[in-house]
Formats: sequence, C-alpha cells, structure tokens
Amino acid sequence: MTVRVRFAPSPTGMFHVGGARSALQNWIFAKQHHGVFVLRIEDTDTARNRPEWTEGILSALDWLGISRGSYEGPLFQSAYAGEQAKAIRGLLDDGRAYYCTCTRDDVVERTGNKHAGYDGFCRDRGLTSGAIRFRTADEGTTTVVDVIRGEPTFENRLIEDFVIARGDGSAVFLLANVVDDITMGITHVIRAEEHLPNTPKQQMLWEALGQKPPVWAHVPVVVNEKRQKLSKRRDKVALEAYRDEGYLAAAMKNYLMLLGWAPSGDREIVPWDVIEREFRLEDVNPSPAFFDEKKLRAFNGEYIRALPLEEFIDACEPWLTTIPGYDRDVFARVAELAQTRIALLSEIVSNVDFLFVDRPTIDEAAWAKASKDAHILPAVIEAFERLSTWDATTLKDTLVAVGETHELKLGKAQAPVRVAVTGRSIGLPLFESLEVLGRERTLARLTALAA
Ligand code: GLU
Repeated sequence: MTVRVRFAPSPTGMFHVGGARSALQNWIFAKQHHGVFVLRIEDTDTARNRPEWTEGILSALDWLGISRGSYEGPLFQSAYAGEQAKAIRGLLDDGRAYYCTCTRDDVVERTGNKHAGYDGFCRDRGLTSGAIRFRTADEGTTTVVDVIRGEPTFENRLIEDFVIARGDGSAVFLLANVVDDITMGITHVIRAEEHLPNTPKQQMLWEALGQKPPVWAHVPVVVNEKRQKLSKRRDKVALEAYRDEGYLAAAMKNYLMLLGWAPSGDREIVPWDVIEREFRLEDVNPSPAFFDEKKLRAFNGEYIRALPLEEFIDACEPWLTTIPGYDRDVFARVAELAQTRIALLSEIVSNVDFLFVDRPTIDEAAWAKASKDAHILPAVIEAFERLSTWDATTLKDTLVAVGETHELKLGKAQAPVRVAVTGRSIGLPLFESLEVLGRERTLARLTALAA
C-alpha cells in the first residue's frame, strides 16, 4: 500500500507557523515511506476564503522547500462537491443520516441546557428537507489509532448526532474533509491536535461510508510563553512575517521540527537531511510545544553565521537593495564583519546603510550622549586630514593618540566619531567602517557635526 498523506490548509488567513510544522511533518513522513504528499486547499468557507491566501500557502510551502511539482496538487475541496453530495445521499439512503430543522434555540428550550448537544428530536420524523445530521450510535465506544497519542477511546453516547450538510445540501467541514480524504486515497492523517475532538466523528463517517479509517496522528498544539495556544490576534504566527524579517528557511525548518520532537544526541541545530532521516512521528511528544521566538532568533543567528560569505551576501540582497545607492562590492568589504553581528537578515540594513547614503540620519538620543565628548572632533579631523594612509589600524592609532591629548579613553573618544559617521551608537567595528567609507566622506561627516 502506498502511503498517501495530505496537508489540508484552509485559505482563510496568513500561513500559520503551526501549519508549516504540520506540512513539514507530512512531507518527511511521505518521503520516509516513499509515499505521496497531497496538497489540498480546503476552500469551502467561501465567506472567508481569498485567492491571495492560497497563493500565500503555495509560496510559503515553496520557501520551506516543498515546491510545486514535487507533490500532488494543489487540489481544491470545492472541486469535490459532487463526491461529497454523493456520500451524503448514500448516508441518507442507508438511514445513517437524516434531515433536521431544529435551531439551536429549539434544542436549548427542549433540554433547558445552554450547552446541550443535539437531542435527536428529528431522528425519526422522516423530514425531507433541512440540514442533515449523522446518526451516531447510542452505545459502545469509538477508538481511534493515533500514532502520537495511543488509542484514545470515546463513548459513542456522548457524541451527538452531528451536522454533515447545511440546509442547501452543501457539505460541512467534517464530512467534506473525510470524503476528500477517501477520494484522494489518504492513508495517514497527520494534523493539528485541535482536530482530535473531530476524530471519532470523522472515523464514524469513514466506517459508515464503508472505508477503513486512516491512521491518525495529532501533533501537539503550539503555545506562547504563557502557555496559550498561538493565536493570530495575539501572537506573531504568520510564516511570512518571519520570512520578511529575515529568518532563513533552513533555520525556520529546523526550529519548527523541534516543536514536539528532538533529534538524537544533545543537539538541536541539525542539518535537514539528518532531520529527514531521524524524525519519527511516533516519537513526537503529545504535550503542547512552546514556540520560543528568542530561541528561533538565536538559531537564525547561527544559521546566518554558518553561511558561506557569497551566500550570505546573496541572502542579504533583498534587504540591501532597498537602500538607495547600494553597491555589492562595497558591501562585500564589510560583509564578513556584519555576518557575525546580525541574527535577522533585515538587521543588515541598519548596520551598513551609512556606507551608501549621502549623509546618515543622526539618531538624536545617540548624539545627545556622544556629543558630550564632541569637543574632540576638530582635533580628530585635523589628525585624519594629515594621514597619508587610510586604513583601520592607522585610523585607530590616530584616534587613540588624539584621545590621549584630551584625556579621553578610546571608548569615549570614538563615540562622537561613530555617531557622526554612521548615525548610530552601535554597529560594525568603527575603524574598518571608516576605512571602507573612505577619507572624503568620513571627513565631511565629522565636519558636519564638529561644533
Ligand atoms: N482545513 C483544516 C485546517 O486547516 C484541515 C484539517 C485536517 O487537516 O484534517 O485545520
């Protein structure tokens, strides 16, 4: 039997990091079993769907290395309405489903309980229109086989007769999702823990439709530092947001795979091919997984530092080319220094933009502090003007000497120079920066701020 897994996002918002983790796990599982990865876009919530979200899913997957052409699809749930309708018809014909016209208020009124499940009122009324409910068993249990969670067992009498189709006959998520999985020959459903409560209902549908249920795997919910489920209203959850800040796909992929799983040995930063080899779905820890942005950031810094220099330069270019006057050759001269200092690619801009702009914008707070020792600047300018060589070592020796005559240690002496030249109080090593910036521009910037 060929393993067939699917990733089935709904295009109703930005691509969630938890979704990215499920996609990667499905991807690896398919690869390990020489199986097929199917991408199904669950686009039946027409009120909330937008085509750009589907585009976002495709490009996010591509960024993660799940590129078009290497999987089946994208298939669209809306294209399977015919199969879904056929399944609903079959369930009605077999007496496994029935029409129902009750509203929520009706149920509350009859049961006197605001939280009551459906009370079965329409079960045997023989209605011929309305919403359609699945008739669940009143006794016995349903056991689902879950690779991560063992065999959770649910009591059937606690599972209400649930809706499978709306009044207009269209399938709701629970049914459409099952019919599509059946139609697409899915053997393993690897998805978020949030869907675990749906699973006994869905397994009943598989069985009622005459199919052997798939193997389930519900991967742990992703939570923030307060142990709350990551939410798009509260937390930064969009994969795109991380990509746009300059996270590397390799760092992100590595980090996402550690949510609920760990590679062998005492290590966390692990090449992707090792993860692909070592990952075991059955070893995924069912407890909630903490998405630690600080740790991800540290990972990213390490991945950035490990890049070969040319690749680092290439990776920075989408950000650098936003700086007017950007010049790759000039950047190449400081790239190695910058590479050790940033954790996000986007941070490259504030580190090197002073090299390309005509005049840096001076950070006022930084200048307010550094200007206390700005009286040194005329002497610095004079000494720099006299230099016959313009290199980092000479520049440093010169500033040390000028500082001594003013009784200023190097740290204090260089503060006004740094702010005048780069606009900021922190950044790349100062003297290398001055060397690359050149004599003329350095002197012009110092002169502009010398009192
Ligand atoms: N469209 C559902 C979701 O995004 C898919 C659920 C499933 O994977 O079965 O949550």
